[in-house]
Amino acid sequence: MTSQETFEGLVVRAKGADYFAAVGGGEVRCSLGGRFRLDESREEVLPIVGDTVLVRVEKRREAACLRGLIVGIRPRKSMFVRTDSSKRMNYRILGANLDRVILVFAVRAPDLNLRLLDRMLVAAERGSIVPIICVNKIDLAAVRGDIEAKIAPYERLGYRVVLSSAETGEGVEELKAAMEGMLSIMAGPSGAGKTSLVARVQPGLELRIGEGGTKAGKGRHTTTHFELHRLDIGGYLGDTPGIREFGVWGVTKRTLASYFRGFETARKECRFAGCTHSHEPDCAVKRAVEGGSIQGERYESYLRILETLPSG
Ligand code: GDP
Ligand code: ZN
Repeated sequence: MTSQETFEGLVVRAKGADYFAAVGGGEVRCSLGGRFRLDESREEVLPIVGDTVLVRVEKRREAACLRGLIVGIRPRKSMFVRTDSSKRMNYRILGANLDRVILVFAVRAPDLNLRLLDRMLVAAERGSIVPIICVNKIDLAAVRGDIEAKIAPYERLGYRVVLSSAETGEGVEELKAAMEGMLSIMAGPSGAGKTSLVARVQPGLELRIGEGGTKAGKGRHTTTHFELHRLDIGGYLGDTPGIREFGVWGVTKRTLASYFRGFETARKECRFAGCTHSHEPDCAVKRAVEGGSIQGERYESYLRILETLPSG
């Protein structure tokens, strides 16, 4: 590398105003070039973890610490987004260009929350990311069949489900196979075992288990310290910080059903084109719920999300 050359890099970490980009085999500590204005209301124009960025490497240092300037961002192929009431525009992008999002839940501590799972599935579908449902702490299941029965409807919808234990190692090979060569993140409630699973998938990382992931900063300008780790099997895996809030973003009452797997056939048969499948007469989705071809629990999740969304 000579000075002032431009390279493509992968943003693996952001800290304060610094972005760390994997370039070739090394890591470059970058700041933002002049064309980026730090405008929090337009988060989408700023680099985020998972972005492919153009980095002008400023100077060559001894050891591994190169400094650079981010001068551009390649168009994103996917984004995982949730609501964030602490932000002016009410959303937060959790990662860019993700191939997989591993939705990690626990058998218990915390209890398996299917409402949250359904909200996260909508975000994955909306963001063009393949979700993998992981039910961790399977070693704590009193009756394994109960958990299998709870999660079976998701398998029937075609979602990949992995029952795992970071304690015994069950399911870890299956998770690895799903993320090999991919850009993946783990997301799910705090305490479900995300950090523990990352440590199983890639031993040797310095991770803090039992702290709900690395803490998100509280101040307005602090960036969430989430990091993509390079995997020996190929690809990158990140651990998102504990989520206190996960609302569906970028979806309206009219479009929600299109992100609900299992609703496809019925929703085309409703009498009204703009049917929101809640109060309208002659709604085929409601008929499908009554007939059992759409699971009542999924429909309940749908209605709860619908209440939170804008019309249109
Ligand atoms: P995170 O907040 O989702 O990153 O969860 P952590 O990985 O920090 O784990 C939270 C707690 O659950 C820690 O005390 C872990 O040791 C424990 N834990 C994680 N995975 C398992 C598991 O598969 N089985 C059991 N019994 N405990 C687990
Ligand atoms: Zn309808």
